[in-house]
Amino acid sequence: MKYYSTNQQAPIASLEEAVVKGLAADKGLFMPETIKALPQSFYDNIENLSFQEMAYQVADAFFGEDVPAETLKQIVYDTLNFDVPLVHVNDNIYSLELFHGPTLAFKDVGGRFMARLLGYFIRKEGKDKVNVLVATSGDTGSAVANGFLGVDGIHVYVLYPKGKVSEIQEKQFTTLGQNITALEIDGTFDDCQALVKSAFMDKELNEHLQLTSANSINVARFLPQAFYYFYAYAQLKKLGKADEAVICVPSGNFGNITAGLFAKRMGLPIKRFIAANNRNDIFFQYLQTGEYNPRPSVATIANAMDVGDPSNFARVLALYNNSHEAITAEITGTTYTDEQIRETVKSVYDKTGYLLDPHGACGYRALQEGLSAKENGVFLETAHPAKFLDTVESIVGEKVEIPLKLQEFMKGEKQSIDMSKEFADFKAYLLSL
Ligand SMILES: *Cc1c(COP(=O)(O)O)cnc(C)c1O
Repeated sequence: MKYYSTNQQAPIASLEEAVVKGLAADKGLFMPETIKALPQSFYDNIENLSFQEMAYQVADAFFGEDVPAETLKQIVYDTLNFDVPLVHVNDNIYSLELFHGPTLAFKDVGGRFMARLLGYFIRKEGKDKVNVLVATSGDTGSAVANGFLGVDGIHVYVLYPKGKVSEIQEKQFTTLGQNITALEIDGTFDDCQALVKSAFMDKELNEHLQLTSANSINVARFLPQAFYYFYAYAQLKKLGKADEAVICVPSGNFGNITAGLFAKRMGLPIKRFIAANNRNDIFFQYLQTGEYNPRPSVATIANAMDVGDPSNFARVLALYNNSHEAITAEITGTTYTDEQIRETVKSVYDKTGYLLDPHGACGYRALQEGLSAKENGVFLETAHPAKFLDTVESIVGEKVEIPLKLQEFMKGEKQSIDMSKEFADFKAYLLSL
């Protein structure tokens, strides 16, 4: 499979180049030239496949030409060594719990897959050292850092906005040591993302170091997120609820939902998608007006969605040939204030006993407000509520139990390097390595 750049100004790349480079030379995002539909027999039988079996068939459609079957199968099976259950909340609303992996957020899927695939390419090429740069608003850093921890030949630099991630999130990537370094940036997530993008564009840096990106802009993180849309559908089908399936995705950088749109393009019978935003509702505004106006992000209690210029918007446009009409035919949007998010967490907990995290709450609410009686809705519960402990406890007025996996991280000691948001400082640091 070949990959083109959404900016159309860079040469076509192989999977290996796309994964190792992360971003195309023209700053565009890599897109597969074709998206293969899966055969009807796959869909007819989907509810009888295990998550891993199903995911391997999806992975084969994307990566089968470029990675030997046994290697790919191993990568898929290792990545998905945890379940992604579909849990009924109430009425026709279901939660796809993506928080059963090592860092308790959906980003474990892409982070783990990418670490393994990049590791494979590096071994194959006999490369000595690759540096992974990753900007995080909270959960990416932990998923990527834990995915890559201890992988030979790869060093990970996590850039995160000082004071803008929860303590638990921070502990998950600042306490690991080994091949993981945390850089605490005096700025916003957008500043972190801009630093990473600038680093890739800097000629001098790229001559000095082999750099790659682990943000959702990397196809090795982005595409595997399609796996669990198939699994959500299979679980709905098992329950006899797969007709008129609607999937709602709490969205920030739009990698997650775009992977779902790819799944639909591969033939997955999803009727429509909803992108749930917090107050950073650039995409929502685009849906209403047809105009894309990025703006600086504002801090909200659903902080992993605090993105003012979603990277993967370029992929959405490419997928629908820049047609606003085609996009709005398949995707609608919602936008919620912190107050509405709090209200939703509280009322759902009081009514049903189901504890939402602030991101999932946006997803739930969009379904509650927007589903017709005939539709069945799945929202992606993108992280465990305990990752946002203070927020969630203050909303429900009760102690929230912290899963053991998280308690382990809390015991570690934070280690990070303070840095300004100026590219010159970041560059000087990287050159000094
Ligand atoms: C990253 C993240 C999101 C946003 O996902 P995108 O792919 O950036 O749209 C939503 N919720 C949680 C908990 C996240 O960590």
